[in-house]
Parts: sequence; C-alpha cells; structure tokens
Amino acid sequence: MKKILILLGPPGAGKGTVGGRLSEIYNLPLISSGDLLRENVNNHTELGEKANSYIKKGELVPDELVEEIIEDRIKREDCNYGFILDGFPRTLKQAEDLEKILQDKGVPIVIYLSASDDFLIERLSNRRICENCGAIYHLINLPPKEEGICDKCGGKLIQREDDKPEVIKRRLEVYHKLTQPIIDYYRKKGNFFKISGEGNLEETITRIKEILKW
Ligand code: AMP
Repeated sequence: MKKILILLGPPGAGKGTVGGRLSEIYNLPLISSGDLLRENVNNHTELGEKANSYIKKGELVPDELVEEIIEDRIKREDCNYGFILDGFPRTLKQAEDLEKILQDKGVPIVIYLSASDDFLIERLSNRRICENCGAIYHLINLPPKEEGICDKCGGKLIQREDDKPEVIKRRLEVYHKLTQPIIDYYRKKGNFFKISGEGNLEETITRIKEILKW
C-alpha cells in the first residue's frame, strides 16, 4: 500500500511549506493542485485558460478540471510509493471522488493545519513565491537570503495575484463555505489529526513525524 498524506487547511496555513519539507524527508512527491493549475495558466493550456478566470477572483476551479489534473498526476511513476496532497481535495465532491480514485492504492492519513483568519491574512499578505520553482517565502519569518531572489534556484520572487487583500478575503470566505465541511468528513473517517498551523515550522514538522511514524 502507498503512503498517502492529505494536508488540509485554509490558504496560508502552511500546507505548501510543510508539504515541501515532508516531501524531502520522506522522498515522496508533493502534489499541489494550486501549483499544477498555475503551471497550466503559465503555459496557456486550454485547462489553464479556463482555470485562470476562477483563480484570479479567489473562487474554486470546477471540480472536474482539478480532478482531471490530479488523477493524471498521481498515475505518474514517482507516485508509486505514495504522495502528499496539498490543496486537494477542497470540496466534498472532490473528497468523495478521491476516495474512489484511491480505493486500491492506500488509506490516506489526513493532517488538518488550522489557523485563525487574522493570522492567515497576515501570512498571505507577506508571502512571496519564486516564479521559477514555486518555493515559498515570508517577508518577515522566512525571508530569502538576498531580497527578491530565490535561495534555491536564483529565480525572481513575486507576490501571487491572489495574495492581494481583496482576493485573500474572498478565498477565506470560499474556504469556510466549501472546504471546511470536508474537515468533518475526514474526522468521522478516522486517521485524522488536527494541529496548529500557527506554530513554528520545525515544531510542526516534528509533530507530524510523530503522527506519521513512517
Ligand atoms: P492554492 O495554491 O492551493 O492556494 O490554490 C490557488 C487557487 O487555485 C485557489 O484559490 C483555487 O482557485 C484554485 N484551486 C487550487 N486547488 C483547488 C481545488 N482542489 N479545487 C478547486 N480549485 C482549486
């Protein structure tokens, strides 16, 4: 059976940063639906063009579009031993469909990173990402060594369009309405762990390693 980890939580809770570290530690691919969508947007694929109109406004991309890219991605060879999902599922429909997709592959462990809206707004407004490799920085808590430049690849750091204040507000509303219900869905299933997304990265990683015992 594969090692499958689902990282749940609101935008800005740290799913991408934590997922990136866990991916290195366990040598499992980090599959971020947001990154995959942005890749499609940047490459001007048909799917990307469709998705962009939703992303820009902070709305969710229709389930079938996201499910298509996730299903394709987890078929790839690097997922043979398992994978880490970040940002997917985000609706009940996606959670139910994922269950069907994973049926014979393994039972996921679900980690829910929780944080208050005020905390998330502060973190998202200070977030910068590398336009080349997607690495995530925070202007105050996790700044790059050289201003505006990615430590990992030397790429340029940018602010995501949807990390601007008006869009952040909408993303949080959408999260509470459409994504929060899946917390209960997974809580009832078991294999579910809630931890604070507001703590420091090393402590969060230590806690998750204790939970996973991989
Ligand atoms: P993220 O990088 O996870 O914050 O995602 C950025 C944006 O991509 C979201 O605000 C949505 O517009 C879209 N998106 C990412 N993942 C999903 C998903 N699972 N379902 C629907 N839309 C998604």
